[in-house]
Amino acid sequence: MALRLDGKALAKELEQRLQAQIQSACSVAGRPPGLAVLRVGDDPASAVYVSNKEKACARIGVESFGSHLPADATAAQVLEAICALNADERVDGILLQLPLPEGLDETPLLAAIDPEKDADGLHTLNLGRLLKGEPGPRSCTPAGVMAMLRSQGIDPSGKRAVVVGRSILVGQPMALMLQAANATVTVAHSRTRDLAAVTRQAEILVVAAGRPEMLGADHVSPGTVVVDVGIHRRPEGGLCGDVKAAELEPIVAALSPVPGGVGPMTVTMLLVNTVVAWCRRHQIDHDLADLIV
Ligand code: NDP
Repeated sequence: MALRLDGKALAKELEQRLQAQIQSACSVAGRPPGLAVLRVGDDPASAVYVSNKEKACARIGVESFGSHLPADATAAQVLEAICALNADERVDGILLQLPLPEGLDETPLLAAIDPEKDADGLHTLNLGRLLKGEPGPRSCTPAGVMAMLRSQGIDPSGKRAVVVGRSILVGQPMALMLQAANATVTVAHSRTRDLAAVTRQAEILVVAAGRPEMLGADHVSPGTVVVDVGIHRRPEGGLCGDVKAAELEPIVAALSPVPGGVGPMTVTMLLVNTVVAWCRRHQIDHDLADLIV
């Protein structure tokens, strides 16, 4: 039976660390950390994600500054909201909830976020910092995956890692982080020929293809560590990932569940980026460096 990479349990543990960090430094900073989630339009999934993020903030003592613009907001209005949050002294982290309504280009809007307040780690400058191994906020989902591996003593050094997916949100930063941890990394994508032959080479396999249950028993080798980033609502109800969990479980060494794997860790890393930015602004030492690799 595969080891379960329990992101939910790890997220809970890390929330306690963050809460302790906030409690010990709040009097020095004179205020709690602040996270602003900017939502545009009425995408129902986004509403759930934003509410989960606000609940997580409340659990650990981060102040939420929610901001919700209507679906017909113009780019200038969204930009104005971002600039106001950039200037707001109470805000350490800003997140622009994606996807934006049709007609709004996310690129210039993400670029307008102060890179020091970039809670999602998606700003061009911060992706560049990741590429160069410089400190900065890290992309939440891949940083969460790295924390899950580390918590189980799974060291990527020298291992063959395969990342399925090359998005800027997940696949690309994931590959950079695994490479920084000294794995030998292959990135597969929709044009990859004979995907199963590639993924069977993996000792660590991270799947972020956004295709429900795309990978099955044929795609893995015995002993592989599999992290399933995908999350999909089944038409008949319930959630599934990008892999056929029931098929993989008897073969692989470890598998992250969906739900309860990568999802909770993504939210936690958002909090990590915010709390670290808060510490930096107030020149407070912290012990969270192991989480922002
Ligand atoms: P994107 O759609 O942006 O990227 C998907 C990637 O997978 C692309 O690079 C694409 O290749 C590749 N791909 C698609 N089909 C195939 C295929 N048949 N074979 C090989 N590669 C393929 O998705 P994201 O990276 O944003 O997200 C991926 C998944 O992770 C989604 O299910 C999303 O919901 C989930 N997710 C979960 C999070 C969490 O917290 N749990 C957070 C973020 C995302 P190409 O570039 O060639 O098109």
